[in-house]
Amino acid sequence: MTLIDGKAISAQIKDELKVKTGELKDKGIEVTLAVILVGEDPASQVYVRNKKRACEYIGYRSLSYELPADTTQEKLLELVEELNGRDDVDGILVQMPLPKHIDEKAVIEAISPDKDVDGFHPVNVGRLCIGEEGFVSCTPAGVIQLIKRGCPDFDITGKECVIVGRSNIVGKPMALLMLRENATVTVAHSRTADLKAVCKRADIIIAAVGKAGMITKDYVKEGAVVIDVGINRTEDGKLCGDVKFDEVSEIAAAITPVPGGVGPMTIAMLMNNCYEAAIRHNR
Ligand code: NAP
Repeated sequence: MTLIDGKAISAQIKDELKVKTGELKDKGIEVTLAVILVGEDPASQVYVRNKKRACEYIGYRSLSYELPADTTQEKLLELVEELNGRDDVDGILVQMPLPKHIDEKAVIEAISPDKDVDGFHPVNVGRLCIGEEGFVSCTPAGVIQLIKRGCPDFDITGKECVIVGRSNIVGKPMALLMLRENATVTVAHSRTADLKAVCKRADIIIAAVGKAGMITKDYVKEGAVVIDVGINRTEDGKLCGDVKFDEVSEIAAAITPVPGGVGPMTIAMLMNNCYEAAIRHNR
């Protein structure tokens, strides 16, 4: 059984970006990410801090905008517009969730698709759908890297892939990326009939549900690759995934742990999108 180490793979990607960023700097190109945080949600503050740290490590410039919780939607959209127009900004990230009085969809759609390093803008989702170059949502992009780098002898082409979950930020883009990798894809959800049987035929299972330990070994074919996107807390406050790790790891060919699997990949892929944004911007 291979334990896919998301921490190590994420570090490897960031180190590769650090080298490539140094090469860009030698050509006079600096990568700049603008990060906007509205309000004082403690989890969001941690995420933003980690993103800024990753920028610093790789050698990107990060611009930080920390706005009060009562910032109006109009003010936020004005700032996004200003950053869209700035030639020295490659990527714009608005930390979600936003306070309730702000329409997240309007904010996502206000970001220029060419600076949308989260890959949430409908234009980028559309580009992914029709196979054009664009930004891909970071968590699903990270899953692809985990499989390719964590299981280098495993070829996704032709494999049965079952994704459990159909959200816009994980399940749906995950399905499109797996299609791009030539897997045969099934997207399961809360209305799927006989989920166990559907999952049991998968060579690759990607769990993105948000229900602690829901995927037991009864859902998993022997020798499957199991990717656990879920982040949940047990009753005693510990982090855990959607997959019952102890029992599934006994039959899986490869599996990601929680924490230390998909989680660390999201920032690495965000950093990769920032690099790509700068490359396209300076073409
Ligand atoms: P979400 O928007 O709540 O979507 C959950 C999906 O699971 C929905 O499509 C839902 O189906 C499906 N589902 C719910 N109960 C089910 C059941 N009993 N059987 C089958 N499917 C079921 O969640 P999300 O944003 O995609 O996130 C999913 C999990 O990934 C969460 O734990 C989240 O914290 C985690 N996450 C992790 C990262 C990371 O960096 N590692 C990033 C993003 C999310 P319906 O559509 O039918 O309701």
